[in-house]
Amino acid sequence: MLKQFEAELNKNSKINKVIGVVSGKGGVGKSSLTSLLAVQKQREGYKVGILDGDITGASIATTFGLGHEQVYSSNEEIFPPESENGIKVMSMHLLLENPEDPVIWRGPILADIIKQFYRDVHWGELDYLFVDMPPGTGDVPLTIFQSLPLDGIVIVASPQELVGLIVSKAINMANQMDIPILGLVENMSYVICPDCGKKIFVFGKSHVDEVAEKYNLPVLAKIPFDSSLAQLSDQGAIEAYNADWFDEFKLDI
Ligand code: ADP
Repeated sequence: MLKQFEAELNKNSKINKVIGVVSGKGGVGKSSLTSLLAVQKQREGYKVGILDGDITGASIATTFGLGHEQVYSSNEEIFPPESENGIKVMSMHLLLENPEDPVIWRGPILADIIKQFYRDVHWGELDYLFVDMPPGTGDVPLTIFQSLPLDGIVIVASPQELVGLIVSKAINMANQMDIPILGLVENMSYVICPDCGKKIFVFGKSHVDEVAEKYNLPVLAKIPFDSSLAQLSDQGAIEAYNADWFDEFKLDI
């Protein structure tokens, strides 16, 4: 399929790789994974940015403790605020004076904003730009798939979705658009028993390996349900996150 609507990159920026984070539906941990991928690459020493493309459910700025008072703009460009460790973030949340206001714009406007975030934001030089994509396989995610020059995507799903068709739809959408899928992540895969340290599979047997095998994709991580991840996100301190699974987490691209 042709990518007809490719957005232009900001004229003062140079981005090596653009990576989308995709999920079949909302609430499965897409924004958390986007933040963690950025944190992991930043810890490896790379220059990283995050474009929060989930306009109506924007949560990335909060996760990094950033607010609209940290955004500067000239006539032509918007300067993204930087997290404590230097991750640049642009999100609709940062442009709203009252973050509790709902964003009630329709699809075409949402897609235009994401293109503007690519064109009008002064990203500077980045090794990686992670894009938190809108959830699902509908109109808005499709337009964004067509708009941004994605070098690859990571698909995140909860254990329940991996049983049904939702993940297959996301995989098929990426395949139809010729965008490489870098791997699958299962989120809220298990809980670690605080007493004995054993993994408890609250949703039953995991299906991520079967799905990965069926589509010939790597499994990048099985993320446990971890209350410290949710707490640090709420406190704007996701960069302080540490966990055994996270030490082994690696995205090769
Ligand atoms: P999405 O972007 O798919 O809507 P989020 O990343 O915003 O999902 O996650 C939804 C909520 O679940 C957030 O409050 C987040 O902190 C929490 N959450 C996500 N993944 C985990 C996890 N593995 N353990 C604990 N809480 C999680």
